[in-house]
Parts: sequence; C-alpha cells; structure tokens
Amino acid sequence: MASQKNTKFIFVTGGVTSSLGKGIIAASLAKLLQARGFSVTIQKLDPYINVDPGTLNPYEHGECFVTEDGAETDLDLGHYERFLNINTSQENNVTTGRIYYNVITKEREGAYLGKTVQVIPHITDEIKRNIYAVAEKSDYDIVITEIGGCVGDIESLPFIEAVRQVKWDVGPNNFLVINLTLIPYLKAAGELKTKPTQHAVKQLLESGIQPDILVCRTEHKLPQEIRKKLALFCNVNINSVIEAMDADSIYDVPLLMRKEKLDERVLAKLKLSHKVEPELTQWKNFLGKLKNPISEINIALVGKYIELPDAYKSITESFIHAGAENETKVNVKWIHSEEVNSENVASLLSSVHGVLVAPGFGERGIEGKIATIKYCREEKLPFFGICLGMQCAVVEFARNVLGLKDASSTEMQQKTKNPIIDLMLEQQGITQKGGTMRLGSYACELQKNTKAYQAYGKTKINERHRHRYEFNNRYLQDIEAAGMKATGINPKTGLVEIVEISDHPWFVGTQFHPELKSTVLNPHPLFVRFVKASLEHKILSESN
Ligand code: GLN
Repeated sequence: MASQKNTKFIFVTGGVTSSLGKGIIAASLAKLLQARGFSVTIQKLDPYINVDPGTLNPYEHGECFVTEDGAETDLDLGHYERFLNINTSQENNVTTGRIYYNVITKEREGAYLGKTVQVIPHITDEIKRNIYAVAEKSDYDIVITEIGGCVGDIESLPFIEAVRQVKWDVGPNNFLVINLTLIPYLKAAGELKTKPTQHAVKQLLESGIQPDILVCRTEHKLPQEIRKKLALFCNVNINSVIEAMDADSIYDVPLLMRKEKLDERVLAKLKLSHKVEPELTQWKNFLGKLKNPISEINIALVGKYIELPDAYKSITESFIHAGAENETKVNVKWIHSEEVNSENVASLLSSVHGVLVAPGFGERGIEGKIATIKYCREEKLPFFGICLGMQCAVVEFARNVLGLKDASSTEMQQKTKNPIIDLMLEQQGITQKGGTMRLGSYACELQKNTKAYQAYGKTKINERHRHRYEFNNRYLQDIEAAGMKATGINPKTGLVEIVEISDHPWFVGTQFHPELKSTVLNPHPLFVRFVKASLEHKILSESN
C-alpha cells in the first residue's frame, strides 16, 4: 500500500520515440523540487527481461551504473545522483526481469497457492510494491518514477497499467503524469508538427492515463499557437505545455525547466505549497565556471567501446565536473584501444595533456592499452587508469620494469606463469554471471604523502567497485621495490585499491570506479587532481 506520509508520486512517460532524455527531465525536475526544500528521489522502471543491466553489453545499453549498495543499474541513475547529490540503490532501478523473477519465486514458494498467477493483478501488484517501497524507504515527499521505453511498446504495458492503478491507490492530488514527447520540425514545410504527440497521447488515453503535463522536446521554440493546439488536442492546460529546447549542456536543463515553470505546474497540480524559491546558487556557480573556462586541455580516453560514448557516461561527466572546478575546458579525444600500438602511440597522443585508460572486460584492445600506458609512464604524461586501466598499468609495469615478460591478468591469459592480476579467492567457485562481481562500496585506507592522499585530504575513503580480478599480492613487494607503490589498501582484506608511481608527475591507477561518485556539487577529487596535473603538463610543455 502507499506510504504513510502522503508521498506524492510523479510518473514520467515517453511518447513518439525513445532517447528523448526522460532521465534528464526527471533529474532536472527533481533538482528544482529538491532546491525548494522537498525530499525527492527518482526511480527507473525498465521494461526489458534482464534482471539488471549487469549482463548487457555496453554497446546495447551504455554504461552500467553501480550504486553504493552494489546494484548494477541503468545509466540514468548516474544522472539522478549527479544532479541530486544523493545516493540511489537497488530499489531505484527495477526491470521487468526482476518483477517476474520475484513473482515466480513467490509462486514456487506457494505464496499464491490455489490461484492462477496473472499479469493483472500479480505482476502489476509487484510493480506497485516496488514503487511504494522507494517512497517508504526514506519517507520521501516526492517520488519521481521514470518508465523506460516508449508508450505503446508491448513490453511497457504492465508498467503503464500499474501507473493507472496507482492513481486510485493514492488519490488524484498525490499523483501526476508527465509525458515527454517530440515535436518534430519539417524543414520543407517550415513547420513544427504536433500530430505524433497527439497520437502518443491518444495511446496513453487508451491505457486509461491522461497526462497532466506535456514536456515537448523541440529544436525550435514552441509558438503560442502550437502550444494552444497541443493543449486542445491532448486535453491539457495550456500552461502545462512545457517547451524543452535542445540545450548546450544537460546541466542547463534545470534552469530551462524553471524558466518554463515546470516545477510550479507540478506543485500546483499536486496541491503542494511552493515553500521557497529554488536555491540554486551552487548550481549556477558551477554553470558559470563550466561556461567561462580560462584554460583548455585535451585528454585522451582510451577504451574499446568508444563508438558509443554512453558506455563511458560517468567518466565524461566526471571530466565536466572536474573541468569546471579547475575552470578548464576538457576536450575528450576518443581513442580506440584496438588501434593503438607501440609505433603509432606517440603520434596518437601528440596533442593530449593527459590520458585516461578506461575500465572494461575481456581481451580485446588490451595490448593497445598497455602500449598507451608504457608511453605515459616513460614520457611522464599524466595517467589515470580505472579498474581494467589500473590492472593494465600493473601488467605493463611488471613486464617492462620488473622484467616479467609474460606477466598478465588471468582474465586474458589463464595459464600465464606470472598472474600479476588474478581472480579473487571468493570468485573462484562462481559460475553464475549476473550480480556476482565484487560490487558496490568498500573501504580503502590511503597512505600519506601520495597523490591519492593529496587529492582526498584524508586517509579513510569509500569507493565503488565492479570487477572480479585483483592485484595479486604475491608480487606486491617486488612491484613496490621497483617503484610502483600500493598507496590505497582495503583495510579488511589487504587488497590493493590504488597504485601510483611516485617518480612521475601524476600516474594513478584505481581498482575502484571513482567516476561513479562524482556529482555537480562534489566533483571527484581524483578527477579534479588529474585535470589539474594535465593542465600543469600543458603549461610546462608549452614553456619548453
Ligand atoms: N575485467 C576486469 C575485472 O573483472 C576489470 C573490470 C572493470 O574494468 N570494471 O576485474
């Protein structure tokens, strides 16, 4: 049943096409409501059958975002955290797969004994249970639930039906539907077209849902007569037709939505007092720095999924946060790890001031990553290795400095004589792939007088993980004696979390994923320092 506190439930659906940016609209609205003093969280319901996106290829679905509690989730949760500066968790992302999994598990346990288990009410009840569970967890004033996919898709139907039922559970003043839609511009006719939206809204109406607010993605301003037409045909108030023009930066969207009074419409419809005007000073300071950089640097991002930048969403967003903090524009130069070799690495990296070697799985592109790292180490180019990037840095060091030519990770070469990166003991018997990696937040203790300590300014930190393999401590002494130091260690297990080369301007590899914790209001300290070091490298190389 709905929460005790009279939580308000807002649903964000999408019509006409997918990829309209529902996640950014939901996060922007949440930001405005939060800035007015409401406690808000966002949830994403995904209509696919995977239990979570952990088993999906990044080419299919972009980055898999990992929460503090170790849930593998949709990348929109990254936007929610970056905008709201809050932690989300497993409840914030639920898929069709998880819903069915839960219902079928209960059925096997005998929870429905004697009954036929059906989409309505059993699946829809389970969906609603998951919606209310988010509200109850922290007694939020407002829960925004984004429905993935597009209205009219066969697979979204049970979610849409559950939304329809929520209105009757919680009452009309506690319930609101925002439908995001596309208003295409026909160049030949010189016109914005409302017909696709009319059809999309009709489809929602067929499911028993009248959207309260239309947010209209458009490349051109919406003239008054188009707004009137949309209002008339879609049965909404004219001031509930909200224009969402393409923006330079996703971080502009909260202010654009404020200008269009999306937050005011929502509050009025939910009969909530306006409390205070949104307090957005820090947000605006960030935007000011983002838009008025005093310097500019190029950073290479070396990875194997670069055809789809969404695969590295949190990393590129972290550069935006850290760039603004340094008042520096960070241009990301995408380099495919499969294309790099020892012959072309110097020319590929000739115009960059820092290199990030990305996380990843499997063998493809590994040697390119290792050639990149060798170049950074020898040429004293700032280097940041994340997860697989850190593991490759250790392999490169073992091969080329320690002289263990066959050093490798057992992920790539199972039978290597020098498994410098190896499967963790706990991982060795695991056969199931879904949700079985080392996931979520773990403690790490930093040594003083290190780049890591300089960045964080404290010795005890917590960072998020998503991997199976680890630095093999059998080699720790030799590696340290040769100049690569383990500067961050998990205090419980002794696992190496950070490696650094002290005799280098900035060479840091982390087993964890710092990019998952960078937000607009708290840019990640390692990214901030890495951008700073790259800027210093640029200044130094230009003065030589
Ligand atoms: N493939 C490596 C592992 O499983 C690294 C994973 C990653 O980069 N996220 O340990």
